[in-house]
Order: sequence, then C-alpha cells, then structure tokens
Amino acid sequence: MTTNLLEFDLEGLAVFCEGLGEKRFRATQLFRWIHQRGAADFEHMSDLAKSLRQKLLSHAHVAPLPLISQHISADGTIKWLFDVGDGNAIESVFIPEDDRGTLCISSQAGCAVGCRFCSTGHQGFSRNLTTGEILAQLWFAEHFLRQHVKTDERVISNVVMMGMGEPLQNYSALVPALRAMLDDHGYGLSRRRVTVSTSGVVPMIERLSGDCPVALAVSLHAPFDALRDNLVPLNRKYPLDELMQACIGYLAHAPRDFITFEYCMLDGVNDQPEHASALIDLVQRHARQGLRCKFNLIPFNPFPASGLLRSPQTRVQAFAKQLQEAGLVTTVRKTRGDDIDAACGQLAGDVKDRTQVQSRMAEQRTLNWVPLSAVTFSEPRHDTKPKN
Ligand code: SAH
Ligand code: SF4
Repeated sequence: MTTNLLEFDLEGLAVFCEGLGEKRFRATQLFRWIHQRGAADFEHMSDLAKSLRQKLLSHAHVAPLPLISQHISADGTIKWLFDVGDGNAIESVFIPEDDRGTLCISSQAGCAVGCRFCSTGHQGFSRNLTTGEILAQLWFAEHFLRQHVKTDERVISNVVMMGMGEPLQNYSALVPALRAMLDDHGYGLSRRRVTVSTSGVVPMIERLSGDCPVALAVSLHAPFDALRDNLVPLNRKYPLDELMQACIGYLAHAPRDFITFEYCMLDGVNDQPEHASALIDLVQRHARQGLRCKFNLIPFNPFPASGLLRSPQTRVQAFAKQLQEAGLVTTVRKTRGDDIDAACGQLAGDVKDRTQVQSRMAEQRTLNWVPLSAVTFSEPRHDTKPKN
C-alpha cells in the first residue's frame, strides 16, 4: 500500500518527505504540483529530482475519488456524486456567481446529528471522510473547472463545508484539509472565504478558534431550547446558551469577524413573528458579551420523509423584515440548482437508495458527460484574495 498524498497538509507532507530521506522544501514543490497544478503523475513533476520521483513512484500516489455522476443545472450549478466505497456516495456542489465561485463540500458519508429537516440526517451515519477524501473534492473540482474554462487562474474562490455531514464531528480530518485550503502553496484561500458550518458541537468550536479560525456558520433554526431540541437533537447536549458562549469565544480574538446564523424556514414550525422576536431577544442578550452575527434565512428544501413544508415566501420576507428592523443584518438565501437537487439538505437523495447507487456505479464507465460548453461560467476573478 502506498500513501495517498491528498491526506496531508503541507506540514504532514514535509514529515512524509523527511521519512523518505528528503529535505523539507521538497514537500513544498510537491504540494504545489498537486494542489496548484492538479498533477497526479509524479513523472510530470519536472523540477523534482529524478531520485525523488523514483521514491514517490514506489511509496506514494494521489487518489482522486471515483466520480459516479455529474449534473449541471440550468443556472450553471454543478453537482458531483463521488463513490467513497461500500455503497456510500458523497456530493459536492459548485455554485458560480458573478463575483465568486463557491464549492460546497462534504465532510462525512451521512450524518449522526439527525436533524429533522435534513435528508442527510434522515439517512443516518456511515463514516467519517478522511482528509484526502475531503480535499479530493476540491482538488477535482478546481482542476476540472480550470480545464473547462481554459484558465490557469483560480476558479474556486470560496469553500463552504455545507455538504453532507457535520464537519466538527470529524475534526481530526477536517483541520488538515482546511490548512491545505488556506496554504499559499495549496489553494491560497483567505480564511474568511472558507466557511465551516456546524449544528453546534460546542467543544470543537472552541478548538477550531485556536487551530484554524476560518469563517463560522452556525445552524440555529430555533430561538429557544424546547424547539431546537426537537429540530437539531444535538441541542440536548449543547443547549443554546452554551452555543452562544462558544460563538462569543470564537469571535474574541477576531474583532472584525462575525458568526453567520443559518435559519431554515419551516412552515408553521419556526417562522412566526414570535419566533423572530425571540431570536432578536436571544441575539441582543448576547450582543453585550461580544456576539456579532448575521442571519441567513434558508428556504426549506422539502422531502417527503420530513413531514415538513417550506414557509411561504411572504412569511420569509416578513420574518427577514422583522429581524432587519431590529438592526440585525439578514439575507434570504437564493436557491440554486433546484432542478438537479443540489440545494442545501438535499445532498443525500441519491445515497439513500443504496441499490440505485450500486447500479449507477456499474454504469460509471458508460456515463455520458454533459458538455460543459452548454454552461456559462462567470469569468474567474483575477483577484480572488481579498485584503485582510
Ligand atoms: N452539518 C452542518 C453542515 C451541513 S448542513 C450543519 O448542519 O450546519 C448545511 C446547511 O444546510 C445547514 O445550515 C442545514 O441546516 C441546512 N439544511 C439541511 N437540510 C436542509 C433542508 N432540507 N432545507 C434547507 N436547508 C437545509
Ligand atoms: Fe447533519 Fe447538518 Fe444535516 Fe443536521 S443539518 S443532520 S448536522 S448534515
């Protein structure tokens, strides 16, 4: 068994290279070949010494995830389904916008948190992804997209850990993956353009602020414990007050940062004026201690097993207005890729029916790729790195 080099951040790769009797700076060259240029073949890494290339050939490899399918939405959103073995599949979604290209990636096959409104949650937990499987999604998407827009510039400017799984329940694999995303020799993304979304794993929020303080989104969905216990079962372990304290702690060393609270609008469940009032109250109580936040209201993407419905648009607008009038910055998320089931919380439809996945996997070799010429991409930005 040789080692998959996608499993490493730069430091990990340096240790691996030392183990081969090589100098640490070789790791930087190798890391750039893999992540900046998308190379998987050591033979092509022309500035590496021949002796190193020989060692790599016998000790290492770069393992892409087998692609099961690709769907392209009329709005340019692309969803990829990858095989992670044992009948499990995970999804990644690319969302092109005028001023950015966002990749939404998965951290686990399934999820153990079991939120009522989430189809990944209904599927249950299969396993954690490795660092290499998390990074392989970005590695594939970035270099695939560059080939199709015919550019050497970066296409993906933002990464959100909002695909399948709870990233903070896969902490040890997550952190090296985040480091590779931020590394100037890797994807060079600014820490504000990498977002970890969590249902509220309080101790890991605290650790993340020390280890790798990227942007944090917290899936709130309810303004009080009785309702949140029901929608996000993890709330029974880490109730709202502890969660708010963890958010305050996360912001303590970054005075210009804020938490994005995600709030999925469920008809008749959490979308009434009294819920908005309670939310305003919750945030204002904690603002004095240093909580800075924005709200992102997400139209619920319904699926039959949830027994829940999407709030009518007028109610979402009224809810947003109520928060805004209280001085809270609030946006309503645009739904993208609806026609290919690429929206939030829908990233499990293909996985739940495992037999279907198996048969799709069998079809893999005959898969017809949709011509990407049919899709309009926004021009990749030349300055994708914001000034910090
Ligand atoms: N586990 C993490 C990240 C993955 S879920 C978390 O829960 O934050 C990403 C986002 O999609 C979360 O805000 C989640 O609440 C939301 N989501 C899940 N199911 C949804 C659905 N059916 N409709 C709309 N948003 C949903
Ligand atoms: Fe897991 Fe997030 Fe879905 Fe909840 S919303 S079940 S935490 S993936």
